[in-house]
Amino acid sequence: MIGTVDYVHHLAFPKLTDAEIATLAGLARVCTFKDGETIFQAGQRGLPFYVVDSGEIAIIDDSADVPTTVVVHGPREFTGDVSLLTDRPAAISAHARGPVRAYCVGQVELRRVIQEIPDLSDKLLEAFQTRRTMLERSGFIGVRVFGHLGDPDLTQIREFFDKNKVPHTWVDVDDKAGRASMETLEVTEDQLPFVSCNRGTRAPRPTVTRLAECLGLKRPIRTEPFDLVIVGAGPAGLAAAVYGASEGLSTIVLDRFGPGGQAGTSSRIENYMGFPAGLSGADLANRGYLQALKFGAELVAPVEVCSMTSENGMHRLVLDDGQVVQGRTVLIATGATYQRLPVAGCERWDGSGIFYSCTTVHARSCKSSRAAVIGGGNSAGQAAMFLAEHTAGATLLLRGGDLRKSMSDYLARRIEHHPKIEIIHHVEVEAVAGDQTLEGIRLRDVRDGSSRDLGCSAVFVFIGAEPRTKWLPPSVAVDSKGFILTGADAAHSGNWPLENREPCTVESTCPGVFAAGDVRSKTTKRVAFAVGDGALAVTCAHRVLAEL
Ligand SMILES: Cc1cc2nc3c(=O)[nH]c(=O)nc-3n(C[C@H](O)[C@H](O)[C@H](O)COP(=O)(O)OP(=O)(O)OC[C@H]3O[C@@H](n4cnc5c(N)ncnc54)[C@H](O)[C@@H]3O)c2cc1C
Repeated sequence: MIGTVDYVHHLAFPKLTDAEIATLAGLARVCTFKDGETIFQAGQRGLPFYVVDSGEIAIIDDSADVPTTVVVHGPREFTGDVSLLTDRPAAISAHARGPVRAYCVGQVELRRVIQEIPDLSDKLLEAFQTRRTMLERSGFIGVRVFGHLGDPDLTQIREFFDKNKVPHTWVDVDDKAGRASMETLEVTEDQLPFVSCNRGTRAPRPTVTRLAECLGLKRPIRTEPFDLVIVGAGPAGLAAAVYGASEGLSTIVLDRFGPGGQAGTSSRIENYMGFPAGLSGADLANRGYLQALKFGAELVAPVEVCSMTSENGMHRLVLDDGQVVQGRTVLIATGATYQRLPVAGCERWDGSGIFYSCTTVHARSCKSSRAAVIGGGNSAGQAAMFLAEHTAGATLLLRGGDLRKSMSDYLARRIEHHPKIEIIHHVEVEAVAGDQTLEGIRLRDVRDGSSRDLGCSAVFVFIGAEPRTKWLPPSVAVDSKGFILTGADAAHSGNWPLENREPCTVESTCPGVFAAGDVRSKTTKRVAFAVGDGALAVTCAHRVLAEL
């Protein structure tokens, strides 16, 4: 019987059949390398895909202090992992072992194979994904990030790396070995958090944009119009990208941070159909991302869309880096963000004691103490469950008296029966306290005004989602809270300009501009609803494109 380790190895490093090699060879040129020659280096992008015909290709991790061999590909085996599809720089290097003859398949041809030959596509995609997971779990160093635990800038950098699948290692500078390694690289305290990018490029206190440049994630976007431009790569945007690209629309997705959206910050999604054991939001997002790329969608991040104008059926979106993207149709899937805690002075703790999302990175900052979670929706419930497992316990704070008012019943039941979760009803936070670190909060009972103190080192806030729509032009009408009006609401708003047709179900008051997911008015704020909306937007896009 085949063991788990052998099975995973088999998925990651399969051998190609004669027929598969013949197909790939027909699209390739033959490359030869001398013994020891470098085939590619970590940090390079736009790499071809190599199928070994004779000799061996050694894959090397040269991010460690001493370069190590990760794996050796022999005849019938091939190089590559997810970065071949994401067009991100390679995380590892490759050298020839002995004289090598290989079929060298360009990225355009590789994408054709992935889109057109299902069995071979499955084999390659499975291998690429499994290899990346194995690499991440192998203690692979990758990009080094130096910083203090609890530093909000460090937390943001690590979230950015997680969402964009950049393998990295955090070097804790409060630890003896970390401090020594910081001194070896001559990194000073005022440069923290500090990132040592590929090939030694230094990035002291980097912004997300600077990180993207330093890691080679930035690339120019083509200027010809796309059939569908999607703003936001959360579940709604990714679903639309999968359906749009698979149905032949030229599709681009733009995101200000990276794929995943709010769902990408959810530790466990258990109510998404087809995953009875649940899956992490990051896993769901990553699968959607690869699926969209497989069908030929482009994804560019980090880029923020700052404004949009529409004229004669063409929409022009201006990005924060000055680039302009044109679309015959546009989908706004920018989701929502949680409102800041309305307590004086609490900004001081933003990202270091008060958080607006909940991932492993955040949970680590309070692992030996209790955490407070504010909010009554599924996001607060998921966070409480996750924190109860990864910290000393969680206290869920509700303004109302009914846990089921906006939380799914299955989650409410689990929370009520969890031994490490306490629920306090009818309270709101009136003050936060702490000196160097957050030490606690003061709660006010909304019924009688009485106060009580609660000790905790971290507060997770999930109250009042606010849509990200401030950048939109007035032609896209929104409701009193800023959510986008669509369909019948758009038609009856008095802002719909066409007489010859009604707006499609998810179409806004600007013809050809759609909204999907949390940003759309009157939607249920759940992953499955966002995915359904994204798919529906593609149907609407087809109708509008047929009219142009
Ligand atoms: C912690 C947590 C746990 C949750 N758990 C569950 C659960 O278990 N089950 C469930 O069904 N739902 C859950 N939800 C809710 C679910 O995640 C959301 O309903 C869903 O993510 C909405 O998807 P969306 O695509 O509409 O928007 P979002 O996920 O919010 O994605 C929007 C994207 O748009 C990008 N963006 C915003 N503005 C711009 C701009 N101007 N330019 C470029 N990009 C931009 C953002 O970076 C973001 O990536 C949870 C939410 C949270 C926060």
